[in-house]
Amino acid sequence: MTKATINSSEVYYEPSEAAYVASLTTVWGGRDVALTEQQVKDYQCDPDGFAAAHFGLTREEYQEWIACRGDALCSGKTKAGKPCARTLPGGSQLGAEEWKARHRSEYCTTHGRA
Ligand SMILES: [Zn+2]
Repeated sequence: MTKATINSSEVYYEPSEAAYVASLTTVWGGRDVALTEQQVKDYQCDPDGFAAAHFGLTREEYQEWIACRGDALCSGKTKAGKPCARTLPGGSQLGAEEWKARHRSEYCTTHGRA
């Protein structure tokens, strides 16, 4: 399954920082990141792969993180056997690290075990 590239913004040169800057897509919008010349090449070659690595995720994790808007989803299954679509308690708009730790590894209030 091929997905469109999420990151499409151009790298620009920021004179005040004497650095190249790319705005990486996050679940909150964008985050400006200063790049070395080598990183500019890496970014232009594979924007989503670069962004994924920046946030400590694989490309698939990164694209899912964006698609879920940072919501960590339940690891339970519905009666039909599909992945539960509920968000974990307190699991909305998480940063990449916490999302990765909790997404599909905890249960929602319905599937949770007391
Ligand atoms: Zn659930």
